[in-house]
Parts: sequence; C-alpha cells; structure tokens
Amino acid sequence: AKGAGRGKHCFYEPSMHSEASDRQVLENDLRQAIDKGELWVAYQPIVSAAGEDVCGFEALVRWNHPLRGRISPDKFIPLAEECGLIGRIGTWVLETALEEAAKWPDNVRIAVNLSPIQFNDPGIVDIVSNALNKTGVRSSRLELEITEGVFLAEGETTDDTFARLKDLGVRLALDDFGTGYSSLGYLKKAPFDKIKIDQSFVRGAASKTSRNSAIIRAIVTLAESLDMDTCAEGVETHDDLHLIRELGCSHIQGYIFGKPVEGEDARGIANSSRVE
Ligand code: C2E
Ligand code: CA
Ligand code: CA
Ligand code: CA
Repeated sequence: AKGAGRGKHCFYEPSMHSEASDRQVLENDLRQAIDKGELWVAYQPIVSAAGEDVCGFEALVRWNHPLRGRISPDKFIPLAEECGLIGRIGTWVLETALEEAAKWPDNVRIAVNLSPIQFNDPGIVDIVSNALNKTGVRSSRLELEITEGVFLAEGETTDDTFARLKDLGVRLALDDFGTGYSSLGYLKKAPFDKIKIDQSFVRGAASKTSRNSAIIRAIVTLAESLDMDTCAEGVETHDDLHLIRELGCSHIQGYIFGKPVEGEDARGIANSSRVE
C-alpha cells in the first residue's frame, strides 16, 4: 500500500495499523509534504502588556494531511527531528515567515521556533543570514525561539552560535521557560532578550492557588534584573490577563488576543495595529 503512488495511499492493509508501519507511512508523507504544499505557516499575535498593540507574531507551522486532516506540530515536529527532516522544514518555515513579515510595518516583529537540532547545525547562522538577506527583513525584527533542549545537545559550537546570532542582530527568546530542569544556569550562559513563560504556569493562574502567580512574579523579577523581556503564553481569560498585567510581564500571547491565523489575516492585523 505504501507504494500506491504519489499522494495515494488507497489500500490500508490490516498490518499497516501497527504502530511502526503507521509511523513509517507518516514519515514518508512528511517527506513529501513541503513539495506538495501541504505545510503552511500560521501567525499568532504577540501583544504588549501595557496597551493592546500587536508588536509581533509567532510563526507556527501547520500540516494539512490529505487523508488524516490537520496533524498537530506537537506530533510531526518530533517526527521531523527523528527522521532528519527538521532542517528542511525549519528553513522553509523561517523563509516563509520572513517573506510574510516583509509585508508588515517595519516595527512588527516575527518570532520563529528553532529546534535544538537546527540550532546545533553548524550552518545555522548562514541559514538565518541568507533568509534575512533574501527577504530584506531587518535582523532586529527576527526573534528566534529556542528551548533548553539546545543545551542538552550542546557541542563546541553552541556558545559560538549564540555569539554569531547576536552579531547578526537577531533577538533570542528562551521558550517554554519553567518546564525543564536547570533553567537558571542557562539564563546566565546565553544572551537571551526574552523569556517566554510556559502556558502551564499561565493558564488559569488567576483561579488557582497563589503558587502560579508567585512563580510568575519570581520569573518577571529575575528577567527584569537581567534586562530581559517576558512573554506570558496561553492567556485565555480576562482574569488571567488582569493578573498577568499586574505581575508585570512585558508581553502577552494567547487566545484572548488572537489564535494563530493565516498570513493574509495576520497582514490585516499587522497593518491596522498602531505600534509604538
Ligand atoms: P510553542 O512554541 O510553545 O507554541 C505555542 C503553542 O501554544 C502553539 O501551539 C499555540 O497555538 C498555542 N497557544 C497559544 N496561545 C494559546 C492559548 O491561549 N490557549 C491554548 N490552549 N493554546 C495556545 P501549536 O501551534 O499547536 O504548536 C505546538 C508546538 O509545536 C509549539 O509550542 C512548538 O514547540 C512546536 N512548533 C510549532 N511550529 C514550529 C516550528 O515551525 N518549528 C519548530 N521547531 N517547532 C514548532
Ligand atoms: Ca514558541
Ligand atoms: Ca512556548
Ligand atoms: Ca511548547
């Protein structure tokens, strides 16, 4: 059935429902997904906490599978990392997002996620630099979001990559902060411009015990003393929004201001927002 031809997986034999072969099928599908135009990028607004101005968007990759429908990046990004496709997909997302950002006002930022595997690729600085040159987007408008995972796969190039990306003028954000193990050491080590506070601390913070707000407050204090911005992710309710503002986060991202939307809609939002 696997060999049923390009774009046609018509005959599913019972044996194909085993996990291993199912994965193999998905991997082959993903291999072709870029060329077939099944991947696209969604953009979620990031808003300044002080006002409600959109100061940027996060690029989030999407896969419309012809047979299975929408597949979550939480599922296919790990697959792409395991089967060696993340470099190609990641570069495509970066270039696509920068092409889109080139159509926005010059002060609206674009945030792009970089997998640890991409970050630790010796060619990453050239990839980023080429993408900026190709699209004409100013480097300071690009924010690269990386997780602590980059430090686990740490090679000799890691420190050097941080330095060279800073030289290029791009911004760096530490994503999913609080979910890993020794975040504090990493903060000391790398020149981050922003900490993104993980949704697990943010969502429902107002209704839970004071523990979540105590943690968020501590992160904000830490970030401020290190001269970093903070973005609270996953803000869905007015209660949480109110709390997050009170706690002093500089940026907010969440369904309360907008879900990820397609490029055309993002362009509309970017052009109608007054950014300071
Ligand atoms: P992430 O980088 O932490 O992205 C934020 C996720 O939270 C997104 O899920 C976004 O849609 C979701 N989100 C934002 N605000 C809210 C909210 O108020 N409520 C709820 N319930 N969810 C909210 P998404 O798009 O499904 O992405 C999941 C993860 O997949 C991302 O987590 C990121 O780790 C990964 N990912 C997505 N696109 C890319 C990419 O281009 N490259 C890489 N390497 N990873 C990506
Ligand atoms: Ca992110
Ligand atoms: Ca995150
Ligand atoms: Ca995440």
